[in-house]
Amino acid sequence: MMIEVRVPTPLRGFTGGKESVQANGTTVGDVLGDLSTQFPGLRKHLFTEEGVLRSFVTVFLNDEDIRQLSKQDTAVKHGDVVSIIPSIAGGKPGAVAFPAMSQLSGGKTGTAPPPKRLTQEQMFRYSRHLILPDVGLSGQQKLLNSKVLIVGAGGLGSPLALYLAAAGVGTIGLVDFDIVDASNLQRQILYSKQDVGRPKLEAAEDRIRGLNPDVKVIRHEERLTSQNALEIIRNYDVVVDGTDNFPTRYLVNDACVFLKIPNVYGSIYRFDGQVSVFDTRTGPCYRCLYQEPPPPGLVPSCAEGGVLGVLPGIVGTLQANETIKLLLGKGEPLIGRLVLIDALSLRFRELKIRKNPECVLCGPKATQKELIDYEQFCGMTPDLSADDDMTVEELKSRLDRGETPFLLDVREPQEYEVVKLPNSKLIPVGLLPERLGELPAAADIVVYCKSGGRSAQARSFLLGMGFKRVRNLAGGITAWAQKIDPSLPRY
Ligand SMILES: [Zn+2]
Repeated sequence: MMIEVRVPTPLRGFTGGKESVQANGTTVGDVLGDLSTQFPGLRKHLFTEEGVLRSFVTVFLNDEDIRQLSKQDTAVKHGDVVSIIPSIAGGKPGAVAFPAMSQLSGGKTGTAPPPKRLTQEQMFRYSRHLILPDVGLSGQQKLLNSKVLIVGAGGLGSPLALYLAAAGVGTIGLVDFDIVDASNLQRQILYSKQDVGRPKLEAAEDRIRGLNPDVKVIRHEERLTSQNALEIIRNYDVVVDGTDNFPTRYLVNDACVFLKIPNVYGSIYRFDGQVSVFDTRTGPCYRCLYQEPPPPGLVPSCAEGGVLGVLPGIVGTLQANETIKLLLGKGEPLIGRLVLIDALSLRFRELKIRKNPECVLCGPKATQKELIDYEQFCGMTPDLSADDDMTVEELKSRLDRGETPFLLDVREPQEYEVVKLPNSKLIPVGLLPERLGELPAAADIVVYCKSGGRSAQARSFLLGMGFKRVRNLAGGITAWAQKIDPSLPRY
C-alpha cells in the first residue's frame, strides 16, 4: 500500500527536494524501509547499521508519535501520513561548557512581592490590556510581578524580549555572551546598525529600557552551563528557550524539569519552525520528544543552512504568546502539543506529544537525577586533533610555493556561488559519504567551509574512512577573506 511520507527540510536533499513522497508498506517500519530503498542517502539518517530506527528520529503517524502506538510495527492504512520530525537546534555547535556537576534542589526561592498599584502612567501604557477581559488590572499586576528568563538574545530572543517588555513583564533575564554582528541584523530586531560590535546584552538592555522603563533587565552575560544553570533558572517563573544549539537546549530542558519550571520551546531552521511548551507537571519534556540529539553535523545549523529572517519573528512571537498565557494562567497552553510551521507554504500543523514512559528524565523510572555534560551528550567532545588545523597563512604560503593540495569545499552550492577558493572542489558535507570516490586517496586534502565547523566534521569523517592526509582550514573561507584576500565577499 502506498503511503504519503512527509520529508523534513534537512532531509529533502536526499529526496530530490521533494517534501512529500510515496512509499510502500503495511507498517511504519516497512514504509520507512521502502523510503530508504528509494532514496538510499536517507538510510543512514533513519536507521542504525543494525537496521533499527535511530533514537533521535521522531516519527509520527498522522498526529501521533509512533512510540505511543506500536513503534515501527504500527500498521498503516490507506490515506495515512507518516511524518519524520527532526530535531532542529538553530545555530552553531558548542555553546555550552562542561563538565557535569550535580546540584539538585527543588522549587523557586522567594515569594512575589504584593502587587503594587499601577501609576497613572502605567494605567495609560497598559490600557489595552486593562480593558481586556482575560488580563485586566489583576492580570497586568501579575505580569509586572513576573520573572521570565530568555535563553539566547538572538533571532528568537529578539521578538520575545521586545514583546514581553512591551507587555510589562516586570523582570526579564537574558542569557547571552555574544557581540552584535552585522549579519545578525537580518532577523535580530533587538539591535540596530549602531549596536554592531557591542555586547548583545548591553544593547538589548538599552533597547528594552527605551521601550519600557518598568522592566528590570537582568543580564546573565555568560554561557549557561551545568554549573550555573540551576542557580540562574531557579529565580524565574518561566524559561523561554531561544537557543541555537543542542547542548544548551538539553541543558535548559533538564534544568527546567528538575526545578519544575515551564520551558517555552521554539526552534527554527531555514523555513521550518517548531513551538511547544514543556511542563512536566502536566505534560512531556523535550527529552520525551527527542530522547537524544542527532550526531553533530547531521542537522545543519542556521549559520550553515540559513534561516528566513522573518521566521524567528513568527516563532518568537508565538513563544511570547505562550509565555504571557502561562504567566496569566489563562487560555490553553501549548503543553503536549507540538506546532510545526512551514513558512514557505504557510501551513501550521499540530502533533500530539505525550510523556514518554521511558523518559530518563521525567518518566516513572527516571535514571537521570542531575545535570550532565551536555557537550559530551551531544557528541561534541572537543576534537584534540584540532591542533593539526591548517591556518590560512600556512595555506597561502603553500600555494605560493607551488604546492597543489586538493581543496575540498564542504559547504552548500549556494554558498559556493557567493565565494570560493580557486581550484576547489565542492562536495557538501552531507553528500560526502556517497561521493568519496571523487577524492584522491593519496593527495593532501585541505577541507574548508565557512568558518571551520563543518570542515572539522568532514575531516574526522574522512580520517575515519581511511584518508590519511586530511587537514582542516581553521576559520574557513571567512578567515581567508579576512586575512589573505579582503577582496572576497564575506557572508
Ligand atoms: Zn521527559
